[in-house]
Amino acid sequence: MRKHIVAGNWKMNTTVADGVNLAKEVVAAASEVPSSVKLIIAPPFTHLVPVAEVVKGSVVGLSAQNCADKVSGAYTGEVSVDMLVSASCEYTILGHSERRQYYGETDAKLVEKVKLAIAAGLSPIFCVGENLEEREAGRHFDVVAEQVKNVLYTLSAEEMAKVIVAYEPVWAIGTGKTATAEQAQEIHACIRKVLADKFGALADDITILYGGSCKPSNAKELFACPDIDGGLIGGAALKASDFIAIAKSF
Ligand code: PEP
Repeated sequence: MRKHIVAGNWKMNTTVADGVNLAKEVVAAASEVPSSVKLIIAPPFTHLVPVAEVVKGSVVGLSAQNCADKVSGAYTGEVSVDMLVSASCEYTILGHSERRQYYGETDAKLVEKVKLAIAAGLSPIFCVGENLEEREAGRHFDVVAEQVKNVLYTLSAEEMAKVIVAYEPVWAIGTGKTATAEQAQEIHACIRKVLADKFGALADDITILYGGSCKPSNAKELFACPDIDGGLIGGAALKASDFIAIAKSF
């Protein structure tokens, strides 16, 4: 049985103090969420150590939003997977469309990052998704399948078992436009089929999250779809009550 997960991507928002308070609110309300749903929060790097103290001993998991594609050394400004583990992270988001689009993150770099993260004991939350032009040209299935193959097909089955996939159509991120449950389900099913072509039955155990303007009002319909196992939440994760309401939508 695959896990249900609701993960909050805080992006470049909140000060350390605000982030610690938000984490406290999430931890305080986590008991309202069914125990079958795993909650994860992904604050900025600067917040990880104090937020780790807040989530310690709770059901809330800690994720980073990125990691370096190198182990250690002279890479100014980068944060390694070992640093993340030493800050008590269990997960890291990788390949978010904002990193692909604004920071030139390529599939080749993502292969390095995903492998390093897994080797360090982290579970990558690996993001894929088409942009508006690709969707309008009817190329969304091909684009997403390529993103999955280019990175995840380089993994062994043992490595793949550690990966959480997030389908995030770029046109739905932060725009208020959500993919319909039907649009999301058909891509999720496609991702699972692409994974099954390489990894067989393991594909049934891989958690695939939907991300893109997911909020309390649409989460129920999305999470009711057979291949949607939860959400990667941006804007709505900055308000604990919305984040928890989304997680209660299962
Ligand atoms: C995201 O960027 O991961 C995301 C899903 O953002 P939003 O929910 O704000 O669209």
